[in-house]
Amino acid sequence: MSGVGRRAHPVQLAAPRLGDWAGGDTGPAWVQERASQQPGPELLLTALVHGNEYSGALALDAFLRSGLLPRRGRITAVFCNMAAFRLFDPGRPDASRYVDEDFNRVWSVQCLDGPDRSIELQRAREIRPLVDRASHLLDLHSMHEPCEPLLVTGTLPRNIAFAQSLGTASQVIVDEGHADGVRMRDYGPFADPAGERVALLLEAGQHWAHASLEAARNVLMRFLVAAQAMDRGDVPSGWLLPEALPPAPVLVTDRVVARSTDFTFVQDFHGGETITRAGTLIAHDAGEPVYTPYDNCVLVMPSVRQLRPGVTTVRLGRRVA
Ligand SMILES: [Zn+2]
Repeated sequence: MSGVGRRAHPVQLAAPRLGDWAGGDTGPAWVQERASQQPGPELLLTALVHGNEYSGALALDAFLRSGLLPRRGRITAVFCNMAAFRLFDPGRPDASRYVDEDFNRVWSVQCLDGPDRSIELQRAREIRPLVDRASHLLDLHSMHEPCEPLLVTGTLPRNIAFAQSLGTASQVIVDEGHADGVRMRDYGPFADPAGERVALLLEAGQHWAHASLEAARNVLMRFLVAAQAMDRGDVPSGWLLPEALPPAPVLVTDRVVARSTDFTFVQDFHGGETITRAGTLIAHDAGEPVYTPYDNCVLVMPSVRQLRPGVTTVRLGRRVA
């Protein structure tokens, strides 16, 4: 079964041309603000946290080109890791995720205030004031493998409820983040149980698939409406996918971490599969079997594309009410 899930995926979407949004005259580069005269939410829309995941950047670019303004509050659009995005090469599309380190693992106060230096830390420190002021964050990502869209919420009920209210078919994934560093959506006030700030991370589908752009546009507009920055009637035609009922959220309970580079799934899993029986074989790692730990176990984002010892190959979860 060697190689299951490791085929190259076609680059259906051309990389966006973002030159119009360089900005930087009065603040950090690659930041655009659109403000209303009326008070309202402080929305932060982020793309290119990972430099090769540009469906979100295409959606943000389309939003900015549309000329739409918020009815209430302010929308700040940030193209986060342009240093990595500039390295994008359709012949090696996985190689431009980051330059020095993963931009989405540096968002602890300790790390941001610490002495370490990297391209990504420098950029995170630059845009941190924009993250600090946000009442609502939508962070636009995509996935290595073809998969239905996911909304990653962290564990706080307010984020889960907000994601479930959007009217998309996106699977809500309730998780505690990563052991190897803090994501932007888990940063400071977003993770405060007593707070009110909302932060969602969209995994829109495979990085370079047309469907991922459609999903990103749909969620972006629905997010703006749900946050009350815009009214439903303001959304131009062509942006929204049909209203859908989301499935029950999946609570991530386990991560399967590769112990070797000889890790293979027994099937071409795409994520979202529910494995009915506990003890079902799902993979081999260096010849050792990997079994599901409980009945009705849901597979979340299976991928061996970045395979090396220590890397998460699949998350396991349960559906919750
Ligand atoms: Zn990403």
